[in-house]
Formats: sequence, structure tokens, C-alpha cells
Amino acid sequence: DLSWEHDILELLGKDVMVFDPEIRAKLSKDYYWYSPVLDRQLKDIKAADGVALVRNETEVAAVLAFAYSFTIPVTVRGAGTGNYGQAVPLQGGIVLDLSRMDQIIEIGEGYARLQCGVKLGTIEKTAREAGQEIRIYPSTYVKATVGGFVSGGSGGIGSITYGNLWDGNVLEAVIYTMEEVPQRLVVKGRDLFDYIHNYGTTGIMTEVTIPLAPRTEWAQLIVQFPSFEQSMLFGEALAADETIQKRLISPMEWPIPSYFTPFAKVIKPDMAAVMVEIAEAMLPMVDVLAQSFDGHIGHVIEADKYRRTIGVSDFTWNHTTLWGMKSDSTLTYLQAGFQLSSYLEQMRMIKQQFGDEVLFHFEWMRNSGAITPTCLPLVFYKSEERLYEIIHYCESIGVKIFDPHTWVLENGGRGEVGSMQRRKRLNDPQGLLNPGKIICEM
Ligand code: FAD
Repeated sequence: DLSWEHDILELLGKDVMVFDPEIRAKLSKDYYWYSPVLDRQLKDIKAADGVALVRNETEVAAVLAFAYSFTIPVTVRGAGTGNYGQAVPLQGGIVLDLSRMDQIIEIGEGYARLQCGVKLGTIEKTAREAGQEIRIYPSTYVKATVGGFVSGGSGGIGSITYGNLWDGNVLEAVIYTMEEVPQRLVVKGRDLFDYIHNYGTTGIMTEVTIPLAPRTEWAQLIVQFPSFEQSMLFGEALAADETIQKRLISPMEWPIPSYFTPFAKVIKPDMAAVMVEIAEAMLPMVDVLAQSFDGHIGHVIEADKYRRTIGVSDFTWNHTTLWGMKSDSTLTYLQAGFQLSSYLEQMRMIKQQFGDEVLFHFEWMRNSGAITPTCLPLVFYKSEERLYEIIHYCESIGVKIFDPHTWVLENGGRGEVGSMQRRKRLNDPQGLLNPGKIICEM
């Protein structure tokens, strides 16, 4: 029995405000269970008290003003595909679900203006029909919303060319503050850094403008190599070659490719595999490059089949972990930044220390313009202590860890949190937006 249930129903109606226990439970979870640590901590958390399935900005502002006056926590949600429990309402209250705000407002030359609940797959399809495409998107693009990606993700397919969310991949955002009278802010430039990867703690994004690139005809390849190190060197050379247009370079150590059952017939055993997306016209150049590292192109999906069949990107980024977990439920993962100048040495040291308890899966990407070997290694989970032993060892040899086993922004290691904390004090003075996700003295 909630003291405010009747009032909010009167304000928004039961088409928007939902109290059904099953819906509340479902929309109070995300994909935190990829982490055994988060799964233990979050699986029994009480669901939100109510869910607001808002349809427009007016309703967003009404929910925020209502929650402010009753001191109710509000946790915003897109599709709930985040992995860090970001969308879990730790202190109950209202889940503000934006999935109905799914309009593409405008596709212009080089940009798309979007309501935050629109799915990335829909944007990509519409943009491609207009001769353009999204610059970067996560491997969950079919379900994930653009607002959820900007507020809870980091990078993905396309990041090898365009970098991550902080590299000019968000142009403008409309933000609502959590105040007695919520303000509608239009944010651009450096100020966007207070909202990118903020887990909805500094404001609610209702609209976002992202840049688009000209449409490219992408061929998808699986390139195989006798050793993982050769596959990494090939990846580095391909990443560095600016004459070859590319969207994805994802080297996988054996036996990770054996988890990709839909490709079982085309993947050769006991070899490393690199999932690649390149402009179709560049195929002969990539073939020569692969051969120079003793590799061969084992499988090609031609550009006219792009997005019509299962694609190579469905096995990359955190989808690699998904396929791993399907095969062995004790697998989990880490997120790591290796150094370009010494990644082979760092890889050898980790192998020497942990053997096949850690399996390498890299994503070559650009970070502030520089080529970076980003790694999402699979780890056979033994205990929390052991997991942190691996993390501490990696850090001791200069491998930066972005810990995916925490929902606390400060501990995940992304973004500029100091400025975000200052912004939170201004935009959310009662600390009601997704409480617990940012450590911020109010
Ligand atoms: P949600 O999970 O709903 O929300 C994410 C966070 O943002 C939450 O804290 C939420 O409160 C907040 N939020 C949502 N909407 C708003 C808004 N409008 N305003 C303010 N805050 C908001 N991520 C990557 O970056 N790259 C990847 O390649 C990638 N691969 C993945 C693969 C798998 C198999 C899985 C399960 C996850 C992967 N992810 C990846 C994580 C996640 O899928 C993406 O970041 C996705 O873009 C999140 O979108 P969403 O709509 O599901 O967001």
C-alpha cells in the first residue's frame, strides 16, 4: 500500500502508471547476471514500487515533479540490456521506462535527432535507407535504445574508426532535471560529458542527436590464424591501415570460436579467429594482409547479406561473453585496456600467471584518436577473491581494468566523475535519480 499510488494514478492514468507485480519485477532488472558478483548482490533486490511507461516529455516532467514532491527515487530505463545493474532501482520507487518514446525526429545530412527510447537497430535501418549509417553502436543494437547506450554504454561496432561515446559521437541532448519544477536543458559540447555514461544519475535524457556516417557496403569475414599473437598483429596492422574502411576487428583466442555454434561448420578448430567488417571493395587487400601473418579468410558474408543473416558482430563485444556462458555457465568476463606498445608482453605475462583460466578476446578500437587494444577477456569464475586477484595482477602490469562487477560509477573507471558529481548536486538536489549508482555527498 503506497501512500502516493492514488495521486499518481490520478495524474497519469493507468495506461501510463503500472503497478502489476510481474511488470514491476521484469522492468526492475537488467543483464547484471553476466557477473556472478552482481548476480549474488542483486538477484533478491525488491522490485520498484511502480513503473511509469511515459509517452512524451510532458509526462516525463510530470513524473519527475511528482517524485520530487513525494521524495520518491526514480530510475530511468531504456531496454534494460546494461550489464552492471545500472537500471536496477536499488531503493525502489519509480522505474521511468522510455521505450514508448521511440520516434526518429529527423534524419539530416550527417546526423539523426532521436527520442531516447528508439532502438539503435531501427535507427541504423532507417539511416541506411537514406544512404547513411550510425557511427558506433553496441552489439545489442537490435534491442538497445539510443538513450540507454549514451547513458549506460561506451562503444562497440564502428569504434575502430570513430572511437567511443566520448569521441564526438553525441552532438546534443535534451535533459530534464529532478527539481520541484524540472528544467528542460539543451546540452552540447563538453557539457555532454556530465551525461554520457551517467546511468541516469544527473538528469533524464529525452532526446539526443548523434552523428551519422555515409553508408558503406560492409563485407563480414572470419579470418583465422595459427596463433592468437598472429591474429592480434593482423588486427593491429588492419587497424592502422587508414586506406581500408572498417567497422569491426575482433580477435578471439581458441577455444572461444568453438562457442560460436552457428558458425561451427565454417570455423576451423585450434586456431584463433578474427571477426571483421570491412568495405567490400577492400577484400583483396585484407586477404593479402591476412596472408602476411599466416592467416586465411575462412568465411565471407557478402555485403548484400548484411543484417539479413546472423552477422559476425553478433559474436563480438559482450556477445562473446554471452556465447561463452551458453557453453559453460562458469564463464564471466572483464574489461581491460592494454597498451599498444606492450600488449603482446602483457598478454604473455597474464597467460603465464593464469593459463587458460583467462581467455583472450580483444576489440581493436580508437580512443581519442589512438589505436587501442581493448580486451573483454573471458574468465572461468572460481570466487570473488580469485577474480580480484586477476584484476589486481592485470593492474600491476599496466593493464587498465574497467571493472564490470560493480554498479558504482566511480569504481567502473569510465567518464569524468568529479564534474558529474557537481552536476548531480545542481540537477538532483534531493539525490533521487537512480540512488546508489554514484557516490556523491549531497
Ligand atoms: P538500459 O540498460 O535501459 O540503461 C542503461 C543505463 O542508462 C541505466 O543506468 C539507465 O538508468 C540509464 N538510462 C537509460 N535511458 C536513459 C535516458 N534516456 N536518460 C538517462 N539515463 C538513461 N554496451 C556497449 O557499450 N557496447 C557493446 O558492444 C555492448 N555489448 C553488449 C552485449 C550484450 C550481450 C549485453 C547483454 C550488453 C552489451 N552492452 C554493450 C551493454 C548494453 O547493451 C548497451 O550499453 C546498451 O546500449 C544499453 O541500452 P539500453 O537501452 O538497454 O539501456
